Amino acid sequence: MKILVVEDEPKTGDYLRQGLVEAGFVVDLARDGMDGLHFGQTGEYDLAILDVMLPKLDGWQVLAGMRQAGREMPVLFLTARDQVADRVKGLEQGADDYLVKPFAFAELLARVRSLLRRGSRNKDPEQMRVADLELDLLRRRVSRGGRRIDLTAKEFALLELLLRRQGEVLPRSLIASQVWDMNFDSDTNVIEVAIRRLRAKVDDGFELKLIRTVRGMGYVLEMPECD
Ligand code: CA
Repeated sequence: MKILVVEDEPKTGDYLRQGLVEAGFVVDLARDGMDGLHFGQTGEYDLAILDVMLPKLDGWQVLAGMRQAGREMPVLFLTARDQVADRVKGLEQGADDYLVKPFAFAELLARVRSLLRRGSRNKDPEQMRVADLELDLLRRRVSRGGRRIDLTAKEFALLELLLRRQGEVLPRSLIASQVWDMNFDSDTNVIEVAIRRLRAKVDDGFELKLIRTVRGMGYVLEMPECD
């Protein structure tokens, strides 16, 4: 499997290349947007990892150029900016996933593998659902059983993470780094509080409880097993 990495920050680029090569991938590394686009248009890649802020052409322009050239490989964006607007922009332009810097390499690898498993570009990546719960990434809307649920930005990000990784038990430390962009501090109960609020909105009043606490481990969103 061949991966294109476009990253201008030398340390990050080398670190990505080394890690991916060690994980068994073939990697081409471009250091600016122009080279990245050239590689992306002329080479055959199973996946591309694009930094957003790049010299010459930014990550969005590289993505747009590759899509114009008919390249349909999945694209993972690396962004230091975790603003909603950037995510929406990326997804609208055909990015398949994004990761906020700084990230753990294990997390990047998990995303890469999941994107590769999905194969070529997911036709409808903006809709996620489990049971009768639906999350629309572009419209930033959540509904359950057809009824609209209003969430805060953090609650939305938390639910989005749980849905993306449905069936996986997510440790608090991962949730802290992904949703709050902070290191996990066991003294804080911010995650517990957010989960409680999210549950009240998503699960209260429904027979099927989708968000589950796994004691000592973390949280998981999944279809409960029938007994
Ligand atoms: Ca950069």
